Amino acid sequence: MAKPRISADRLWSRLMALGEDGALPQGGVNRQALSAEEILAWRRIIAWGGEIGLRPSTDAAGNLFLTLPGSMPDLPPVIAGSHIDSQPTGGLFDGAFGTLAALEAVTAIVEAGIAPSRSIIVVAWMNEEGSRFAPGMMGSELFAGKRTLEQVMSVRDAEGVSVREAMAAVHAAFSDLPRLPLGFPVAAYIELHIEQADVLERSGAVIGIVTGIQGKKTWEITLKGRKAHAGTEPMDRREDALQAFARIAIALQAQVGLADDAVKFTIGRIEVEPNAPSVVPARVRFRIDLRHPENAVLDRLAHRLEEIVAEKAAPCGFDIRRLVDAPSNTFDEGLRAQIRASAGRHGFPAMDVLSAAGHDARQMAGLAPSTMIFIPCRGGISHHPDEWAEPEHIAAGASVLLDLLTNAASIPHQNGD
Ligand SMILES: [Zn+2]
Repeated sequence: MAKPRISADRLWSRLMALGEDGALPQGGVNRQALSAEEILAWRRIIAWGGEIGLRPSTDAAGNLFLTLPGSMPDLPPVIAGSHIDSQPTGGLFDGAFGTLAALEAVTAIVEAGIAPSRSIIVVAWMNEEGSRFAPGMMGSELFAGKRTLEQVMSVRDAEGVSVREAMAAVHAAFSDLPRLPLGFPVAAYIELHIEQADVLERSGAVIGIVTGIQGKKTWEITLKGRKAHAGTEPMDRREDALQAFARIAIALQAQVGLADDAVKFTIGRIEVEPNAPSVVPARVRFRIDLRHPENAVLDRLAHRLEEIVAEKAAPCGFDIRRLVDAPSNTFDEGLRAQIRASAGRHGFPAMDVLSAAGHDARQMAGLAPSTMIFIPCRGGISHHPDEWAEPEHIAAGASVLLDLLTNAASIPHQNGD
């Protein structure tokens, strides 16, 4: 039996070929969730998997699976992959790299004549990005039971198309695929991804051992004032929603946004009504995105944030709607140790990094021992046609993933099977 080896050229050429599905004239891709472009990408990936006998399947959440059956198929499988949907101005590597590298690793295992004990499943999760249907992570959250099909199916895109309709189109295009159940037992989950930040690049590291994903909470807050004439309404009688917003924004930035070095605080969207030059603003609706690696701190800041809104809104009224509430997680220590060991064997400089962005692995970490491997991306640029990863870093990440997959799939019993 030969030692499995990834083909850096095949992986690179497949990454470039997948970039043709939804290619933008200026470079990059627009391949949003459950779109015609994503259907093309599914066809390509299923065909590549077919070359080595991988069995394609889907599920009620619109996830795509390619399975290499193990010699002990009753054991929970190992899953590796990411997503293939993109932002409207996405790059070639975000998500696609993790899915195609998992396919490459499985291809290397098959070519080496290795028969793993556990089945290995390559996954492309549905709607990670959340740009067409918000919020994202739909496929992995449905798989992990964090959201229900009823909650997700009625979400509509800007054209009024629902997830139910778009997913029916995908399932109709692949009507011969068997359906796996949501949330089937999983032995381990491994996701390879570009870093989407420049910590690795600045440090000269090639492999990021992802310690965890920072927690994130988001809110939609509405301040309710009263419309009035800008020339006649006395200042002491105004209920100016924009002035209330200004008081709140300044206090939040000072007391929440600058609370410590690790906090990330953003007011990313604000809508003013009636947004007319000579009318006292009657209503301001805005979104807050708050992230922190430590759950206790995130919870404390969230509490303070809601207090500040309540303290500073008067004389306006207010509504606070919590949207996302995703705690931080820590990835499996055993798998992280394997990443370190593999990188060491290959001579790839490696370091621990925290993921500032959310990923499907957050959901899987609640179901099975999970981990993520990062590689650098140029300048930390992502969600942009200029997104770029060096071919040698692509190959390095895939080689480490191959080592972890080989280990995980060859261990017949772990974690209480
Ligand atoms: Zn991604």
